[in-house]
Amino acid sequence: MKSQADVVVIGGGVIGCSVLYHLTKIGRRDVVLIERSELTSGSTWHAAGGMHTLNSDPNISKLQEYTIKLYKEIEELSGQSCGIHLTGGLFMATDKARSEWLRAAQANARMLGMDKHFISMKEAKELFPLVDTSHFMTALYDPLEGHVDPSGVTQAYAKAARKQGAEVYLRNRVLETNARADGGWDVVTEQGTIHANVLVNAAGLWAREVGLMAGVYLPVLAMEHQYLITEAMPEVAALDRELLHFIDFTGEAYIRQERQGLLLGTYEQACVPWSKDKTPWGFGHELLQPDLDRIAPSLEVAFKHIPAIAKAGIKNVINGPFTFAPDGNPLIGPVPGLRNYWVAVGVMAGFSQGGGVGLALAEWIDQGEPGSDIFAMDVARLGAWANRAYTHDKVKENYARRFSIVFPNEELPAARPLKTTAIYGKLAAEGAVFGAAYGLEHALWFSPEGPGDRERPTYRRSNAFGPTGEEVRAVREGVGLLEISNYGKHSVRGPGARAFLDRMLAGKIPEEGRIALLPMLSPKGRIIGDFTVACLAPEDFLIVGSLGAERYHLRWFWKHLPESGVLWESLCHKLDGLSVAGPKARELLSRVVEQDLSSEAFPFLSIARMSVGMAPAIVGRISFTGELGYEIYVEPQYLLHLYETLRRAGADLGLRLFGSRALSALRLEKSFGAWAREFTPDWNAFEAGLGRFVHLGNDKGDFIGRAAATEQKAAGAKRRLVTLTVDTKDIDAIGDEPVWHNGEIVGVTTSGGYGHRVQRSIALAYVPTPLARDGERFEVVVLGEKYPATLSTKALWDPSGSRMRV
Ligand SMILES: Cc1cc2nc3c(=O)[nH]c(=O)nc-3n(C[C@H](O)[C@H](O)[C@H](O)COP(=O)(O)OP(=O)(O)OC[C@H]3O[C@@H](n4cnc5c(N)ncnc54)[C@H](O)[C@@H]3O)c2cc1C
Repeated sequence: MKSQADVVVIGGGVIGCSVLYHLTKIGRRDVVLIERSELTSGSTWHAAGGMHTLNSDPNISKLQEYTIKLYKEIEELSGQSCGIHLTGGLFMATDKARSEWLRAAQANARMLGMDKHFISMKEAKELFPLVDTSHFMTALYDPLEGHVDPSGVTQAYAKAARKQGAEVYLRNRVLETNARADGGWDVVTEQGTIHANVLVNAAGLWAREVGLMAGVYLPVLAMEHQYLITEAMPEVAALDRELLHFIDFTGEAYIRQERQGLLLGTYEQACVPWSKDKTPWGFGHELLQPDLDRIAPSLEVAFKHIPAIAKAGIKNVINGPFTFAPDGNPLIGPVPGLRNYWVAVGVMAGFSQGGGVGLALAEWIDQGEPGSDIFAMDVARLGAWANRAYTHDKVKENYARRFSIVFPNEELPAARPLKTTAIYGKLAAEGAVFGAAYGLEHALWFSPEGPGDRERPTYRRSNAFGPTGEEVRAVREGVGLLEISNYGKHSVRGPGARAFLDRMLAGKIPEEGRIALLPMLSPKGRIIGDFTVACLAPEDFLIVGSLGAERYHLRWFWKHLPESGVLWESLCHKLDGLSVAGPKARELLSRVVEQDLSSEAFPFLSIARMSVGMAPAIVGRISFTGELGYEIYVEPQYLLHLYETLRRAGADLGLRLFGSRALSALRLEKSFGAWAREFTPDWNAFEAGLGRFVHLGNDKGDFIGRAAATEQKAAGAKRRLVTLTVDTKDIDAIGDEPVWHNGEIVGVTTSGGYGHRVQRSIALAYVPTPLARDGERFEVVVLGEKYPATLSTKALWDPSGSRMRV
């Protein structure tokens, strides 16, 4: 084994081999893979090899499409068969909710250029003659679906990579990974030590154990998964072509042909984790004990829906383990807090996603950023709170819900409440219905029914609709109180703080006592942050962004921090906050502070330290509602006092609690974009309407992304973020829906909801610049139905912004 390599990948499962192949595909030659045993010695060995493109995240869906189309390429390059069976697939729904879900999935697939289409029950029967269609309402056909040979695919990746210069060392367990002072890693193996500039942990079933060698807990847990293979069936043997893949949501099962029988796998409710504490190093190709009782409910449904199965003998039952992250998506990317340590783990659908994961990771390693917004797969989306116990509960929930619909307004119950603030109990007593973001409970809305009410999961307007409307109107007409502890807060201070921020952010850094809205760009000029930056003292800044992106942003800042002179600290759970917003907000706050809050003394975008009641606070004159408003931050021990002080002071002003559902409606009425919806790395600042915050003047230094932004500005934005009013009755867009114009898909929504004050259903969307004209007519597809929509270049509420500046 050589003693030095540019990139060392640990793990020769389908994921490690795909990463290795993609590194060579984009031109990296000095790359090495180390495998403990033979290739495919983990989950990959057990897999059924099924593949599909369906995913609720359009970017992941695209990567799945890429994966499936890649198999021909690696077959040709390597000379190794991947055993490709591109049979096509059928998704069958027995009820209305799932049928609607399929309609939305089909509309979105069409937007991505994928050819999924509905077929009649007669056609479904022709394609899958064994099914009893009388049980079903809807059938969706997808030609890009099938299965591959897991071992063939893995070998093909490895062979193709070797042909392009990679080296693979088998039967060589990695024993230690030790960080070097030069930023690289000493990878200690059974066959000696190799020094890597970059290390990739793709250890699959052993991802946790390999992570711990570098002191990192990776939140993945293996679950037992069973599929059975029937004896040869005359009904299958009689067919003149291979059967399609068949997803039976009601039975929580996937079914496909295996030789002259069927293969049926389930995601059963009575699911069982495997090796909760430690994956044994000796585990290899052996199977786990089958337990047919566990999957009996799924089998019963299958016997009804595909009666021939009931008569078939069972030839084999496979029970094997594979790993999941708490939300079921892969964990990929550089691990925050470590230098040059990357992961590609928790990939539960290796044969649908492996190629895309390999491509995204290789591009990211090579170019410093992945090719598209893959935050849904980014290891940084979870924090240290995603520990072993949390992972256990969430993975079980996720597994059991693999074939369940997650409605857009649905909050899943496992591992909650985890993080709460000091006023959680107070808000609960006021009827707060909570959601969890980044592990933190926050009020979504307040139920007039009082404590313990729930929001009913639905695609349409829910029981939250009425109360949310009341909250919106209270903010627009009087004054509202919102907890904002769930914003992402950071402190940047030290003698080099201003210069550092000037390099990191694309706009003008504010002077003392002022707040500015500033985008952060990647080297390619994509939006990777959207902050309010407040200057508290000449070299002391408070930065507020998204809590969910805390570690994503920390990782970026840590990467660029100078050796000395700047301290970057996450205040996410060190500062809590409340916001008061509405025309009466000044009157309210003036009652509990000594400072003059008049517009002259404390104008829009001011910030200052002051006492609110007895709580030392940072008060900024800013609000995401579009009304006169203040954000008030205090250390957590003062939050309860702050809350009670404001409640008392606001009682006679009609102060009303509001939650993030109302905040979302308020910001839509104002056409304010939000991180992770409108502002993502898929767009540049000029497309997103943030161009006016990008400062390209001579008085601004060479910030990251400046060259790209200069080019983008000169070229002009091809697409623009716009506001659409959508003519719906009882449903609103949610984001990621296709936008049609003259019979063609031209754009995509990013958020949607009801504007309770303007009484319109609103969607924010990206459309081609030539169409971004007032009054232009479009259609937005919500849940598979087209609704007329009209473009507005201005916000629907207070377009001049005078209310928040008052
Ligand atoms: C029963 C079953 C059915 C499945 N069906 C499907 C399906 O139909 N479609 C689908 O897409 N997915 C399916 N899967 C999931 C699929 O198997 C996984 O998504 C995929 O195999 C994950 O691959 P991986 O490379 O991440 O992990 P693994 O396959 O576990 O590979 C990890 C590799 O790392 C090596 N390694 C670990 N530690 C070290 C070390 N210290 N030193 C050196 N090497 C090390 C291991 O030996 C192993 O070879 C199924 C899984 C099971 C169990």
